[in-house]
Amino acid sequence: MPYNIVLILIIIGLALVGFGINFLFKHQEEKKLKMIQSLSFDETYRAYLSKTAHYKNLSEEEKKKIEQSILLFIHTKEFIGVNLEATDEMKIIIAFYACLLLLHIKTSNCYDNLKTIVIYSHPIVTKAIKSFGGIYTKEKFFIEGQSANNTVIISWHEAKKEAYHLRHNNVIIHEFAHEIDFMDGEIDGIPPIEKSKYNEWTHVLFQEFTKLKKIALKNRYWGKYKLLGSYAATNEAEFFAVVTERYFESPQSLKKNFPELYDELDGFYHSDYYPTSPTSKAPIVKR
Ligand SMILES: [Zn+2]
Repeated sequence: MPYNIVLILIIIGLALVGFGINFLFKHQEEKKLKMIQSLSFDETYRAYLSKTAHYKNLSEEEKKKIEQSILLFIHTKEFIGVNLEATDEMKIIIAFYACLLLLHIKTSNCYDNLKTIVIYSHPIVTKAIKSFGGIYTKEKFFIEGQSANNTVIISWHEAKKEAYHLRHNNVIIHEFAHEIDFMDGEIDGIPPIEKSKYNEWTHVLFQEFTKLKKIALKNRYWGKYKLLGSYAATNEAEFFAVVTERYFESPQSLKKNFPELYDELDGFYHSDYYPTSPTSKAPIVKR
């Protein structure tokens, strides 16, 4: 048989094998999806959700939708507890806040790139070398959460406190805002928004970010910027993650103090929950 024909037959054979594997994979995925869709939402799961301020404010239709998303989330991601058992409560609460962010965004994406959620009992302590005018210091940081490399890390001690008591901060919302930011391939404070809204988004968000950065550098005359806190001045990505927390945790305060910023966030998340205003101040922690 001529060499060319053998080569063509090999290429066709490989293409058929590839097609077959792809077909089998898709078939398995569809089967799994159908199985998840047929599951009913456990009453104990609902009891955990009822303790959050956000679940109570959802309509019946939204509750139904988010419960389906939660089931999909917990059955398609791996939860790893570090020196602890990843309980149903942890899985449900983490999945709830992750899915709440996507509830009104038109996407079938359920954090598709995210594979693993690692849960620690308490904040992780890390050390970093910092330079101030040539003087190097070793600093300790407490990390409540992190989002990187298809993995989200959550400190359950903080996450639970923030999930059940409104206090401006919510580490789960924060880390999943980073995941949303990364959905377009870059972590830059710009989530996958419509092209027509891009200029307005960058103008409003980065204008406020620049103002906040200046205030944080001087560390005085904070005024309304106290609501955002100095950690939001770290970079554009942290700014987006922090304002997302404020949008879901204290929307009235965000709307009153930063109406344009609120409108941009609202145009993206389309959420109109108004949980009771929190009373405590935003602590400075690394996330
Ligand atoms: Zn962060």
